[in-house]
Amino acid sequence: MKSALEVIAEMFIKGLEAKEEREQRKIMNRMFGKVIQLTLMNFNEAVVFFFEELEIDGKPKRWVRYESYPTPMLKCKKCGWKGFWKDLPREKVQFDIPKEDTKSILLDRVEETIEKCPKCGRTNYLYWKDWVHPMANVNLYVSSQWEVGKFGTLIVGPITVRLKALVNVMISMIKGKTKLVPFSEIWTVINFGTILL
Ligand SMILES: [Zn+2]
Repeated sequence: MKSALEVIAEMFIKGLEAKEEREQRKIMNRMFGKVIQLTLMNFNEAVVFFFEELEIDGKPKRWVRYESYPTPMLKCKKCGWKGFWKDLPREKVQFDIPKEDTKSILLDRVEETIEKCPKCGRTNYLYWKDWVHPMANVNLYVSSQWEVGKFGTLIVGPITVRLKALVNVMISMIKGKTKLVPFSEIWTVINFGTILL
């Protein structure tokens, strides 16, 4: 069975396959050479996308492949607790989802993990012991699939929706729910997001 992030990775590749050849080439030229690591903390895993030259049907082609990895541990800087995202407390959350988004398969969760140490109960002391793939030149850490969606909405719909999305991404970053290293790769991440649309 495929893991949650592998399903998302497959969706990216399917999205790319569904595009016209001209569009595919445009995306590939923009992304060529990038190695994007997406770490989704609430699924305890990371997936690394390699935009490189691959052999497709016996011919060299600029394409994308991915590898998935288990995400390493969380640590509490205060009490030293170590564990995984799944060990954190959870709570039911009511989300304000636009009607047109409810079809998305990513939006089926109503519980959200609370970023709070299960041992000492403190918030703000948990850190993701950052595992980085040695080849990754873009690292995007997100606490949940909800945060991934915020990047997608940056480039779709009317300007008011995009501005709202930008504010949401900023808030997400300030709260530490999203981390992009280096931040200068924001356009790469946005371009990457467009593959899904
Ligand atoms: Zn603690």
